[in-house]
Amino acid sequence: MKPNNTTLNDSDNPLLRQWNAAYGLPPFKHAQPEYFEEAFEAAMAAQRAELDVIATNPAPPTFANTLQTLDQSGSLYKRIELLFSNLALSNTSEALQAVQRSMAPRLAAHENAVYLNADLFARIDALYQQRQQLALAPQDLRLLERVHLDFVRAGARLTGADRLRYAAVVQELAAQCTAFSQNVLADENSFLLELKGEADLAGLPDFLREATRTAAEQRGLGTGRYAVSLSPSLAEPFLTFSTRRDLREALWRARSTRGAHEGASDNRPVAARIMALRQEQAQLLGYASYADYELADRMAGNTTAVLDLLAQAWEPAKARAQEDRATLTAMAASQNEPVPIAAWDWRYLAEKVRAQAFDLDNSALKPYFTLDNMIAAMFDCAHRLFGLRFVEQHGLALYHPDVRAWEVQRADASLVGLFLGDNFARPNKSSGAWMSIFRSQSGHNGGTLPIVINNNNFAKASPTLLSFDDVKTLFHEFGHGLHGLLSQVHHERLAGTSVLRDYVELPSQLFENWALEREVLQRHARHFESDESLPAGLIDKLLAARQFNQAWATLSYTGPALIDMALHSLPNGTAVDIAAFEAEQCRLLGVPADVGLRHHLSHFGHLFSGPSYAAGYYVYMWAEVLEADAYEAFGEAGNAFDAVTAARLLQQIYSAGNSQEPAQAFRNFRGRDPQVGPMLRKRGLLRT
Ligand SMILES: [Zn+2]
Repeated sequence: MKPNNTTLNDSDNPLLRQWNAAYGLPPFKHAQPEYFEEAFEAAMAAQRAELDVIATNPAPPTFANTLQTLDQSGSLYKRIELLFSNLALSNTSEALQAVQRSMAPRLAAHENAVYLNADLFARIDALYQQRQQLALAPQDLRLLERVHLDFVRAGARLTGADRLRYAAVVQELAAQCTAFSQNVLADENSFLLELKGEADLAGLPDFLREATRTAAEQRGLGTGRYAVSLSPSLAEPFLTFSTRRDLREALWRARSTRGAHEGASDNRPVAARIMALRQEQAQLLGYASYADYELADRMAGNTTAVLDLLAQAWEPAKARAQEDRATLTAMAASQNEPVPIAAWDWRYLAEKVRAQAFDLDNSALKPYFTLDNMIAAMFDCAHRLFGLRFVEQHGLALYHPDVRAWEVQRADASLVGLFLGDNFARPNKSSGAWMSIFRSQSGHNGGTLPIVINNNNFAKASPTLLSFDDVKTLFHEFGHGLHGLLSQVHHERLAGTSVLRDYVELPSQLFENWALEREVLQRHARHFESDESLPAGLIDKLLAARQFNQAWATLSYTGPALIDMALHSLPNGTAVDIAAFEAEQCRLLGVPADVGLRHHLSHFGHLFSGPSYAAGYYVYMWAEVLEADAYEAFGEAGNAFDAVTAARLLQQIYSAGNSQEPAQAFRNFRGRDPQVGPMLRKRGLLRT
């Protein structure tokens, strides 16, 4: 049953009317916070009605009347939910946050109504039990297996009191996770370090002075003043360049303690409660720990496989960091800086060593990496690999003036979808970078085209100049974007990035490699004033410095990944004090104090803003194994844009969504299972 179109068009609520904007974009101009609760209620009711029709169908279950219909159901709900979640991340407000708090448990209750619908599950289960006799097409069988697993993992097999308790746990988890992210944002917004006068600006290159001026303006200090916020695009370069050790320390401490202050935004009790609820969830589903539950639906399969991989990086990186520490300590001594060095010194001293050892000054590179040129570079790579063209569309009504839109076309001018880019930091935007969608690709309704969005948090300036790390982030998110755009599957549940969590970072991390290709840099990295190409000498230095400080990068990532696994592997029923647990793990693992952790538990959004990356921070390294090995296929072909390899990559990975088992998809592309060597080599952790 489709929601009644007449009713929709008559609604006073613009979110519930037909979306008639170009490309089927949401009615952003009218998407006021006050419309969402009503729209959600209507959309949830419509989906429940659709599911009841499937569940109570007197005809025996078939793939078409059950799975196919289910995959097509809930279209109103999906579009409202995607619009809301995107706005809540990218352009939030007090009013939208209030809706978010009010809706989180109700949306979770709706998910429960879907997955705990016993009659619906009985039909899916009946089909699943006879799946081998149904002679289904491979993608249909995959959908049946996938959806059956979704239901089982969401509690569909529970009965009686367990079923009720499970629903309550899931609902409370949603509320706690929402509180967790809002607390992090609150702490990020309550901190601003004003830089008063030249003494506080010491060491900052021009681009960073400019960015701190913009930040002061954006945060209401007025013009002609300077400030640094906790946004990574400001905080990380500040920690790299500021010669003021006291200010670096103040900033480093403020970042590390987000979510760990007594008061309304204290995340320590929130995280502890989330852990208790997750353990109860795992218990109800018959797993010994929450990690066991999560890993059962990952490519890794179990915690042992994850710990084995992380250990292969952790120990060599610690040894390597010991050597780097000696070099940095010598540098500190030569600069009359105090020793032993501290966590707020590492980036600063490493930059000095890098500048000397590789004769490479990162701030000298920056004028060659304008945001616009790097967008052109990533589009060019997508063109050369997959034949795509990106045509900017002006005049579309989007949710913020900073957002840009491109129509994506194939070589034959057929339409692939719409790509949106929201690249600048704002106080009402979550930090970090991510890809999302407003609409998924599917074969529904004669073919539904995706609307994909990439978010970054670059400091806005004219022109916006990127660090090379920023460039890699831009390419990373675009890799996810292509995974969403190039999807060519029939069933929405299997489309685009709806793949296993430790596989989803393969297309994104793989795409970063093209940003490091010499010919891409030569063509696109051009000085913003003179338009000169990045000199060959600088490219050599940039490429030579690739493995510099990788031990630090490996440790600051792997530490949190190991702590995540340890935390979620606690047996059900173990109470946790988040701060004490983290301190104890750091001691057990031997986390070097001068390296520290990239994320502390009190603000570790990957783990606590939702279930996606819980017991899953390792996925970046898991996917890096796949990615580093996959990219070597282009090296073996002798060309980073080799057409045959690119065609195989498109078919097996970027367009395949979840239509086949990921290990098999990788094998189809690479001709064998993945090997760990290329990842370790890339990080300089294999002695050759
Ligand atoms: Zn990613």
